[in-house]
Amino acid sequence: MNDYRIQGATGDWEVVIGLEVHAQITTQSKLFSGAATEFGAEPNSQVSLVDAAMPGMLPVPNRECIRQAVRTGMAIDAQINKYSRFDRKNYFYADLPQGYQISQLYHPIVGTGSIEISLDDKEPEASTKTIGVERIHVEQDAGKLMHDQHPTMSYVDLNRCGVALMEIVSDPDMRSPAEAGAYLRKLRSVLRYVGSCDGNMEEGSMRADVNVSVRKPGEPFGTRTETKNVNSVRFVMATIEHEANRQVDVIESGGTIVQETRLFDPGSGTTRSMRSKEDAHDYRYFPDPDLLPVELDDEFLSECRDSLPELPDAKRHRYENEFGLSSYNAGVLTAEVETARWFELLLMESARAQGEPPAKVAKQAANWLISELFGALNKLGTDLENSPISPEKSGELLALIGDGTISGSIAKQVLELMLETGDAAGVLVEREGLKQTSDTGAIEEVIAKILADNADKVADYKGGKDKLFGFFVGQTMKAMQGKANPQVVNELLKKALG
Ligand code: ADP
Ligand code: MG
Repeated sequence: MNDYRIQGATGDWEVVIGLEVHAQITTQSKLFSGAATEFGAEPNSQVSLVDAAMPGMLPVPNRECIRQAVRTGMAIDAQINKYSRFDRKNYFYADLPQGYQISQLYHPIVGTGSIEISLDDKEPEASTKTIGVERIHVEQDAGKLMHDQHPTMSYVDLNRCGVALMEIVSDPDMRSPAEAGAYLRKLRSVLRYVGSCDGNMEEGSMRADVNVSVRKPGEPFGTRTETKNVNSVRFVMATIEHEANRQVDVIESGGTIVQETRLFDPGSGTTRSMRSKEDAHDYRYFPDPDLLPVELDDEFLSECRDSLPELPDAKRHRYENEFGLSSYNAGVLTAEVETARWFELLLMESARAQGEPPAKVAKQAANWLISELFGALNKLGTDLENSPISPEKSGELLALIGDGTISGSIAKQVLELMLETGDAAGVLVEREGLKQTSDTGAIEEVIAKILADNADKVADYKGGKDKLFGFFVGQTMKAMQGKANPQVVNELLKKALG
């Protein structure tokens, strides 16, 4: 999996990457206050006295935030710490009225776990790699400064102040931009399955601090830089690409890499220095005296475990084993939780309409969804989430194909009409006269005419040009406007051509 190298003047360099992902926990209210967390609200409309750090206010931990962090830890097979504790990380910034962030340094709620990534969609099993997760801790987000509202003043929006984040810290296990991209996509998928974070990178619900260093293969790790708050998978990959090349240039021209915090500029695709890296002791971490340690009991833990859904890898394996789907199709259908949900509804409906067990009609449903509906939605510039037709209506269409009422090619037409009109498949087939015919008399008549019109080709066919059979099938289907049952056409043609 690891053949990514930077070619320098002194030879090949290997890139080492570790990601610290901040994921906003999906909850109604903040980590230590009852203020709302909805994105895009009027500035400073979601700020409680606790968030604004008014004197005498006391934080109260939000049980749901703890629960979501624990469920997330369980989803990546991590050690769950029954004892954890909140610490104050002290620093001054205008978007942080408390003067400290409440975080977990010494006793995080989740310990080591792992995430399995794959670089190849078509053969997921052929190229898996396990990326270690060092820890997940829970902490508060800060507010936001706005510098472009006024020529000489900056404003502060405290809506995000106190919003609950999970910080998910990976081991330095990734070795290429592609591996980092795969890790982020997989992590995002797991978070969305679990429901602990919406994974919306544009809205900042998920962002990554990107740690990068370079070394000659086999040598010890080099000094790393950390590029902060990168907010898309593409930008993370670009950050690594740029930063690794920059480091190689610096080292090869006789310089040294200093451990520092950098910023990514999406416009130029480059990173620049922001400040030299602080060490933990600069923050004067100490246990927050306003908060008791978090102690989890077995009942809480088993509720967390029981509430976990089937996760993407397990689902993919089940689709392969139970439904016989290719690993590519199973991967496509399970990558996003919404796609899997849609597929399962479609499957249920299609199975019901055809009176068959789901396993028997799953391949048909998977193929249709991936090769027909995705394409059609794409053409309309929309996606499954905003699909104008429901899984129920699609199930009816599949049943019409399954029982031979319409052919596959007519089904494409019906799908287009459904998307256009919103009418049900059955209604459309009836109204437009699209039923497939097995009327041998009508088909035989058409075949006779085609063979008469193409006497030369008939002679060639009989002389051994077997491939011409397809031509006759095509002509017959065309003359029947696609409505002839292909199997019947085949049989009758074979008979007619002797
Ligand atoms: P800190 O003590 O500054 O928090 P950590 O050792 O906890 O640093 O690592 C922070 C992040 O940096 C982790 O994601 C880790 O995988 C990554 N990291 C650590 N060392 C390196 C390195 N030499 N190159 C790239 N990433 C690294
Ligand atoms: Mg650390």
